[in-house]
Amino acid sequence: MSRFWSPFVKDLVPYVPGEQPKLSKLTKLNTNENPYGPSPQVLEVIKAEAGDALRLYPDPNSDVLKSAIADYHGVSASQVFVGNGSDEVLAHVFHGLFQNGKPLLFPDITYSFYPVYCGLYQIPFEAIPLDESFQIRIEEYRGINGGIIFPNPNAPTGCFLALAEIERLLSVNNETVVVIDEAYVDFGGETAISLVDRYPNLLVTQTLSKSRSLAGLRVGFAVGHPDLIEALERIKNSFNSYPLDRLAQMGAAASFADQSYFEQTCNAVIAERETMVSRLEALDFQVLPSAANFVFCRHRHRDASELAAGLREDGVIVRHFNMARIDQYLRITVGRPEDSQVLFNSLQRLLLVN
Ligand SMILES: *Cc1c(COP(=O)(O)O)cnc(C)c1O
Repeated sequence: MSRFWSPFVKDLVPYVPGEQPKLSKLTKLNTNENPYGPSPQVLEVIKAEAGDALRLYPDPNSDVLKSAIADYHGVSASQVFVGNGSDEVLAHVFHGLFQNGKPLLFPDITYSFYPVYCGLYQIPFEAIPLDESFQIRIEEYRGINGGIIFPNPNAPTGCFLALAEIERLLSVNNETVVVIDEAYVDFGGETAISLVDRYPNLLVTQTLSKSRSLAGLRVGFAVGHPDLIEALERIKNSFNSYPLDRLAQMGAAASFADQSYFEQTCNAVIAERETMVSRLEALDFQVLPSAANFVFCRHRHRDASELAAGLREDGVIVRHFNMARIDQYLRITVGRPEDSQVLFNSLQRLLLVN
C-alpha cells in the first residue's frame, strides 16, 4: 500500500538482475558467474567455520579478510574496505563520495546499477557516449563533475582501457573521486591498484563473485587512500555493522591463499573465451574485443532478441539488453567447453533456419 511509503520510494527505478532460473538443467550464460566452482580450500574453510561459532557475531571490521586482501595487493589494511558484494561497496561509494550536488560522469553503455544508485541517493549524472567502436574516450571526461566511475573492463562490452589512459584522466581530474570498478579485471585486464598510492582520489573496487567463483558468498572490496576508506567505513557503520558473515569473511580470505586454483580457473575461462570468439566469428557474429569472462557480440544478419529467444528454447540463457545502441547485441558468459558445445549446437540450429 503505497500510501505508507516514504515519498521518494515511488520514484525509484530498481536494478533488474539477470534471471536466476529455478531449473538446473539450463545452460546459464547470462550473469557472468564462473563455471568452475570455488577453490576446494575455500569450501573446507567455510565448512570448518559452519559450527558453534555461528552463534557469535562476526568481526565487524573483517580484519582477517582485509589483511588477506592488503597482502595480496601490496597495500595496507587501512587502504581496504570490504562489503557484502561489490554492489554494496558501490552503494556506499555513491552515498559517501558522490553525493555532492555535481553530476557524476559514467559511460552511456555501462553497468546499469550506476543510474540506479544515482536515483537512490539523488545524485545527478551525465552519461558520456562511448565512441563508435564502444571504447571509452578519456578526453570526454574533463568537464565539471562530482565524480567519475566506470568498469574496467567495461560492462557489458568487455573492452579494457589501458592503465595509461586512466592515469591520463587522473592527472587532470584531481578534485573529485575517480572509481574504477574492476569486477572483471582478472580475466585479462590490469588493475589500477598500483596507482592508488600516487592518486588520493582514486578508488578501485573488485569482487570475488566472478574470478573467484564466489557470487553466492557476496564479497567485494575497495582499495584507495585511507581517507576515502574512512568515508565508506562511516557509512557502513551507520547502516549495518556486520555486512559480512563469518562464512564470507573466512571463505573469502582463504580464496586469496589458493593462487594456483585461481590462476588455473581464470586461464581456463580466458582460453575458452578465445575459442568462443573464433567460433562466433565463423558464424558471422561481430565480437567486441573482450578482456572479461563474457563476450559481447552481434550477428550481422539476425535479430538479437530473436536469437536470445531461440537459444532459450534450447535451454541456453544469455543476456539481451533492450537499450539504445546495444539492442542488437548479446552478452554471453564464458562457460566450460561443454557449455559452449550446447551454445553452438543451438546457434547452428537457429542460424540454419531461414
Ligand atoms: C558483477 C558486477 C558487480 C557486482 O559484483 P558483486 O560483488 O557480485 O556485487 C559490480 N560491477 C560490475 C561491473 C559487475 O559486473
